[in-house]
Amino acid sequence: MIKTLAVMTSGGDSPGMNAAIRAVTRRALDRKLKVYGIYDGYEGLAKGGDAIRQLQWEDVGGLLQRGGTFLGTARSEKFRTREGRCQAARQMLEHKIEALVVIGGDGSLSGAHVLAQEWPEHVDQLRKEHEEFSSRGEIPNLQVIGLPGSIDNDLFGTDMSIGADTALNHILHAMDNLTSTAASHQRTFVIETMGRHCGYLALAATLAGGASWVLVPEEELELRWHQKMVDAIDKGRKIGRPHHIVIVAEGARHPDGLTITSNDIKRILTERLGLDVRVTVLGHVQRGGSPTAFDRILATRLGVAAVDTLLDAPDAPHCHMLGLVRNEVVATPLTTVVEKSRAVGVEIETGNYSQALELRGESFKNTLKLVKTLTRILPAQERHDDGVVAILTGGADAPGMNTAVSVAARCLLNQGIPVLGSRDAFMGLIRGDFIELDWDEMVGWVNRPSSEIGTARIDFKPADLAMIAENIQKHRIKGIIAIGGWGTYVKIAELAAQRENFDAFNIPMVLVPATIDNNLPLTEYCVGTDTALNNIIEAIDKIRHTAGATRRTFIVEVMGRQSGFLALMSALASGAEKAYIPEKGISLAELNTDVENLKKSFQYGKRLVIYLRNEMASFHYTTDFIRRLMEEESKDQFEVRTAVLGHVQRGGIPTAFDRILASRMGSTAALTLINAMQEQSTEISVLALSGRGTTTFPLPEAIKEMDLERGRPKHQWFLQLIETADALAKVHAGSGT
Ligand code: ADP
Repeated sequence: MIKTLAVMTSGGDSPGMNAAIRAVTRRALDRKLKVYGIYDGYEGLAKGGDAIRQLQWEDVGGLLQRGGTFLGTARSEKFRTREGRCQAARQMLEHKIEALVVIGGDGSLSGAHVLAQEWPEHVDQLRKEHEEFSSRGEIPNLQVIGLPGSIDNDLFGTDMSIGADTALNHILHAMDNLTSTAASHQRTFVIETMGRHCGYLALAATLAGGASWVLVPEEELELRWHQKMVDAIDKGRKIGRPHHIVIVAEGARHPDGLTITSNDIKRILTERLGLDVRVTVLGHVQRGGSPTAFDRILATRLGVAAVDTLLDAPDAPHCHMLGLVRNEVVATPLTTVVEKSRAVGVEIETGNYSQALELRGESFKNTLKLVKTLTRILPAQERHDDGVVAILTGGADAPGMNTAVSVAARCLLNQGIPVLGSRDAFMGLIRGDFIELDWDEMVGWVNRPSSEIGTARIDFKPADLAMIAENIQKHRIKGIIAIGGWGTYVKIAELAAQRENFDAFNIPMVLVPATIDNNLPLTEYCVGTDTALNNIIEAIDKIRHTAGATRRTFIVEVMGRQSGFLALMSALASGAEKAYIPEKGISLAELNTDVENLKKSFQYGKRLVIYLRNEMASFHYTTDFIRRLMEEESKDQFEVRTAVLGHVQRGGIPTAFDRILASRMGSTAALTLINAMQEQSTEISVLALSGRGTTTFPLPEAIKEMDLERGRPKHQWFLQLIETADALAKVHAGSGT
């Protein structure tokens, strides 16, 4: 069993690295390990001295919201030499470090791999040269765990690397801002994104940001690719598109292998179309800033798993990278990670683009295909006259609903199927109030908050069903896509139950999960949840800034209805000390313990403690009740304040994650419906993001998974993270801020 572990960051920094260091450190301390932080990457590991410092619980406090890495990173030429690595091995022996957790990109991970491979030889040499090591007993092999830290998202073995989500949000933010100025000036913008050989950021930004054209390194371009681009933009201008954005990944290439720069594109568009083109090279802004909720949670899960992997399988030789694959932590040998991650670059360098694309995998290929459909200036097929599809957004609004409507509508329109938006959810169906969704208009909806076609909560009156049936027939509605939450699922189930009475209801329907509460069956995430999570952690970060010198506890009330997802995940992402959730309820005994813990925390030097309370965690122990109880019991040792975040959580422009999820679900909803209509099936399908990707389930299966009495799904994957959240927020002597 190892006793001492070191953690380091190396290579290019990425937002979320601090969260990973914090998680590794705290989990390791909690499991009684001694922890060293290595400053300045491999340079520091070889140098030793003050570059290797012991880390305590409080050293990693207040870090979650900070971008970059507090341990610093450096590129190290020394470590590329055998001699440099032997110096590093010596430092590690001196500190009795038996395991190393390295957070970085493929370069950093190959460095770790080489060190682990050479370890026995370095130990032999050092034993021969130094008396202090030769007299030591057996020295075991070095255990190495790598964590993917890179904004480029170019690592094999993980769906997302730490930092990529934040970088993508920065790009989208820039695009949103440029779109508004471009629209007022009829401008065309060229945006260059980072990513080395990987087109992920460019592709995802095009999907989620509504760009007109994209160039990625993995796609083999035609010799006259620029002609196609010029034609498309010209056509767009002629039909009155107010603006255009062209995204170029830094690694994009001409078919002859030469790099395409953003200035090349500017020149082409200016010369050929006489456009006013502005170039924005986003550069290091993409790396900066506070990490998103997704990156903080990803980093935290992987950091905790790194320590657990080392301790729970002490006899296994560890030389792995841990990644998140389909929402599960998965270990892949470092050799495979490095080899496969680099292979794509090699294929691109040698002009084998199709092989490069193949290596990126199915999801990347599908996204590229979807982007090609969505960036079309006009639909591929003429509008036909075999009936229409109606789309509605139900219940409370959720950020990303517009994205889902926009993508679903365009996928249908592309096949020639006209699409109607039902105004104010089911009200439109009852009153026959629809708006025709038009291709060109839809492009601009991808980044709009709330729902343009309107949402509403209603209960059906008996007459309503007949009206809906009448309007389905009158408007020749052949299929329905309903985007919404719990209430929308229940309403669609009510229509299904009335099929015998109303023949019009015998059409295929698709449900898309969209609610900030993340309380729907079979899906790991719903559209809107990620935006709400980010709204919450931004608010908590701000509350932290008000701490001053006082000893203060904040009870922050968040939404989520009967699901504790938002409370628990935002506690994990913001470092809040506790989350009261409805799945566990609140007891008086627990509140007593909490008061004692608070007293202890403040005695140990904390200045601010944040407790989160889900709005329905307990009927009687309300947020205000808890505040009063704690204030009384604090005996003037600390103050208690409350902050009820309310509708701030629902607002704002949808995040990258929500827009991408909404795009995928929107396109799957359209395809599912088109298939069903062709096969004359009347199935009602429910979409879900599950271990297998975006999948569809028949409605009865989804209903079976709904605990209708409690108002939440029977299985909730995130409950497995309660232990992680508790472990990282424990009250420790000297636990600091
Ligand atoms: P990233 O980890 O972001 O890909 P780099 O490729 O610059 O960044 O790698 C970071 C550091 O990892 C390098 O400066 C070097 O010290 C070390 N490193 C990279 N590749 C190797 C290798 N093959 N052998 C030993 N060390 C390496």
